[in-house]
Amino acid sequence: MDSYAKLLDGYTTFRSQYLSEENATWRSWAKVGQSPKVMIIACSDSRVNPVIITNAGLGEIFIVNNVANLVPPYKKDDKTYHGTSAAIEYAVTQLKVEHIIVMGHSGCGGIRALMSKDEPAPETEFSFIRPWMEIVSEAADFTAQEEDSMEIDELATVCEHRASLISLKNLVGFPWVHDALLKKEVQVHAWHFDIGSGILQAYNEDSKEFEELI
Ligand SMILES: [Zn+2]
Repeated sequence: MDSYAKLLDGYTTFRSQYLSEENATWRSWAKVGQSPKVMIIACSDSRVNPVIITNAGLGEIFIVNNVANLVPPYKKDDKTYHGTSAAIEYAVTQLKVEHIIVMGHSGCGGIRALMSKDEPAPETEFSFIRPWMEIVSEAADFTAQEEDSMEIDELATVCEHRASLISLKNLVGFPWVHDALLKKEVQVHAWHFDIGSGILQAYNEDSKEFEELI
């Protein structure tokens, strides 16, 4: 089936479910608005959809998708575009979410681009990906020991973990997030989803390791 036709086919199924009595709650939100208690900052990668991974429903998760699930540092700057920062501001100040999760994943193309030392192809006039990935450039600063002892996939996992932790650090640098943390109104988490196994890990502040969630 053509990819566009497949969308319409899926929409037909969705529409019948949407109008069913058991999903009346979904329709009722048209009047009352959304009130998700969780925000997830996830990669745009099509294999790591937070709603599917957590078996959530419509209205439960406020999601930002961007390349490599990055959070830029807090910066007062109205000269450029800050979609992710605007979403974080809205989630914390208006929706008052209780949890914010930065969710990385295995095989992340953005992370691989960061790790690649290759220069952009000459025909590429400008790449938005490289300056965007600069947000977490330190994540790819491997020690000599890491480079000597790890295969490329292992290094990528290390880089994915570190990048999420840098994003988490940037996240708490936003004043509203910082205030909400001090008031214990919000908790922040770093997750990592392994596509091959379906295992979801979370960063444990005590052990300083990513550990299986369940
Ligand atoms: Zn990714």
